[in-house]
Formats: sequence, structure tokens, C-alpha cells
Amino acid sequence: MNYVSTRGKSPAVGFAEAFAQGLAPDGGLYVPETLPSLPGDLLLEEGPMPYPALAWDFFNLFDTDHDSEELIALIDESYGSFSETMTAPLVQLAENLHVLELFHGPTLSFKDFGLQLIGNLFEHQIRHTGEPINVLGATSGDTGSAAIHGLANKKGVNVFILYPKGRIAELQERQMTCTAAKNIFPIPIEGTFDDAQRIVKELMGDLELKNRLRLSAINSINLARILAQSVYYVHAYMQLPLDRRGDVHFAVPTGNFGNVLSGWLAHRMGLPVERFIVATNRNDILHRLFTTGQYASGEVHPSLAPSMDIQIASNFERFLYYFHGEDGKKTAADMAKIAKTGKLKLPNFDPGVFAATRCDDDQILVNIQRAKEEYGYIVDPHTACALQEIDPDRTTVVLSTASPAKFPDVMKKAIGEAPTDPMLDVLKKRKPVRYELEATPAAVRAFLEANAAG
Ligand SMILES: *Cc1c(COP(=O)(O)O)cnc(C)c1O
Repeated sequence: MNYVSTRGKSPAVGFAEAFAQGLAPDGGLYVPETLPSLPGDLLLEEGPMPYPALAWDFFNLFDTDHDSEELIALIDESYGSFSETMTAPLVQLAENLHVLELFHGPTLSFKDFGLQLIGNLFEHQIRHTGEPINVLGATSGDTGSAAIHGLANKKGVNVFILYPKGRIAELQERQMTCTAAKNIFPIPIEGTFDDAQRIVKELMGDLELKNRLRLSAINSINLARILAQSVYYVHAYMQLPLDRRGDVHFAVPTGNFGNVLSGWLAHRMGLPVERFIVATNRNDILHRLFTTGQYASGEVHPSLAPSMDIQIASNFERFLYYFHGEDGKKTAADMAKIAKTGKLKLPNFDPGVFAATRCDDDQILVNIQRAKEEYGYIVDPHTACALQEIDPDRTTVVLSTASPAKFPDVMKKAIGEAPTDPMLDVLKKRKPVRYELEATPAAVRAFLEANAAG
């Protein structure tokens, strides 16, 4: 299987190369040259197969670079770290309403599904090539902690994660700073997430530096992350009774459009889905897109669901590519328009299988309260956004993207109690290690030069 760029101007590459590069040389994102079909008999199975076995079946369709034995080992190791034997259990709340719990990985958010696998793929690549790498990224919370836990103590890789000082949840910061791993460098900077991201982009754009230090990225444009997330949509479907699989709606808390794109790709591969509900918080760029056909980024406003405080949905480009019938030229032209004017109007836009909802902070609190009263179930503030508009006559699967234990302040405000998790309690006893730097590319560059692996 080969991978091509959404902008159509980069040579096709194999899975390992697409994974290692992240961004294609023409600035586009990698997509499979042709999207394979899910094995039809899989969808008729009564009950789920073990998660790693399903993940292996799925990746076999995409990854023709690793041999079977290697791939099995990588997948087993990635999902062996989850605390639930079901990995992604489906919990029924009402006749037609189910929650897919995606927070049983080591950092208690769905980002572990992609980043545990990425960590093992990097380690495998380093063993294979003998060349160390340095991972550089910026985070508003969950991506950084999941990446750090995917790579902590792995040989031949050092990890540098920038984050806005004082603007992420305390427990998210502890997940990054309390690992006690020598290869992890959490870097708080003065400013916002956008400032951190800008520094990373500038350093990544310096090809001499990037090549010499072998800098790699871990953000959600990496195709391996997207594909790893497609697996749990299939797994959720297999956990539904056979007579409930005819009209499935997936409601997905959305920021960068990565998670819901993963589901949509599974649908394009044959997974029967009636609707994907793109659930945003008050940062509603995607709600506006799917209700009006107009994509226009605005200012980011802090919300009670901070991991969705995004106004540039980086995976939108992959949606656009399929929307244009896999036409790289049209996609590149539209992306150029967005880069120039910050917006794009899609003529005669038909949202197809997508619908969208928007949830402001007050509604987040109400949705958390209602879930507790009506179902005796506690959701985190991100998942609460996906409970905004549920059709009671359809089989609905709400994707729960994080554990409520990560956001004790919001939970106390909503329901007067904050669930805890033993994994987070352990962190509270450890001493944080962090490297505060001046918020300039020069300061971060000097730090990288001094601490890079290899
Ligand atoms: C990252 C994140 C999201 C948004 O996911 P996207 O793939 O960016 O759409 C939602 N909820 C939580 C808890 C997250 O960490």
C-alpha cells in the first residue's frame, strides 16, 4: 500500500515513510492511494473480537512495510498498557444510548490509542536504522501527555514538548512533568498554545536543524494516529447487538477533526453508519462549516473543554480531499485560499453523513449534571459536548474522549464531586521536572542543541 499527498505533488511513499515524515514535502497530508474495504464478514460477527486482534486485521490492510510478527508485537505492546481488558468498552446508558469509553490508556484520554502505537513505531524504526531521533511538539494538554507516555524511557529518542505555562490543567501538567524519565523534557513557556506552536513550526521549518537533529513531529496530522483511531469505531459497532446496527449515530467531541475523521474513513471502508455528529464547544468553526458550508477561522476562546479550544482544524484538509473526489489540485487550491484569506466557501455544500452541534460552557455544566441525574453516569467536559443533541430513536454511540478525573475543577463546579483515578494520585506524590525557557525560537533551539539524543 502506498500513500500520496492531499495536495497531489509529492511522490507516493510506503507506510513507514509516510509515518516518519508526518507532513508531505508539498505541505499536504498523507492519505492512502486507495482506501481498502473492511472484510465484509467482520461486520457480521456477533460480539467483538479482542481489540489487538482487530487492530492487527485493520493495520494489515495499510501497513505492508512491517512483517506480520513485528506488527503483532507492536500492537500488543501498545494496547497491553490499557487498564481495561476490553480496551474500548461500550457502556449502555439507556435503551438507545451508549458510551464508548476511550480513556483507559495510560494518560486517560483517547489520544493514547494513536500515541502508544506511534511510540512503539518510533522505537522500532530507531532499532531498525540505528539512528536516534528527537521528537518536538507543542500541546494544549492531552497530546503532550499521551506522547510523553508513549515514548518515556524508550532508547534512542528524546522528547521535547512545549506548553503554555499556567494555561493547562494541573493534572495534565503533572502527567508531563512527573514521569521521572530521563529522555523527557517538558518546556513551559510564557504565552498561549499558539505561541508554543509557532516556535515549533519555525524550528521544524529550518531544514538544516531538522535533518541534523532528526526532528520528528507527533501532532494529529500523522496518518498512523488517524488509522489507529479508526479501529475503535469498528470495535464499537461489533459490541452492538446485531439488530441494533442498522441506524448507528456516532457523536464525537471534536477539535482538530482527527477523531471524527478516523470514524468517517472506517465508514468509507464499509462500516455502516447513518450519521456522524461533530460536537464542538464554543470554538465552533466545524459547526459553522457543516451547517453553512463556510469554513472561517476566528479567535480562540478558552472553554471548560480546553482540548477542543482550536480554530484551525488541521485534519480538515483530509476531509476536503475526499470531498473533492480525491483531487489533489482542487484541495491544494482550497488550502491556498484558506492560507491567504482565513476562509473558504464550499459551493452547493451537502454535509452528507455529517451533522454538527455546538455547546457553550453553561451547557457543558448542564450536560454533565443531566448525565448524572438521568443515567447515573459521570462524563468529562469534552464528552459532555457530545450529549448536546441526541436522537432518542436512533442507536447512538457517544465517544467519551477523556476521564472526568483529569478535570476535577470543572467536575466540582458541575456536580459538586470530582472522581479520582489512582494513576493521577500517584503523580501528585512525585516532584515535577520541567525546563522553563524564554518563549523564543532561539532559546528553544539552544536547549535542543544541548539536550538532543545522538
Ligand atoms: C484532543 C481531544 C479532543 C479533540 O479531538 P480531535 O481529534 O482534535 O478532534 C476531544 N476531547 C479530548 C479529551 C481531547 O484530548
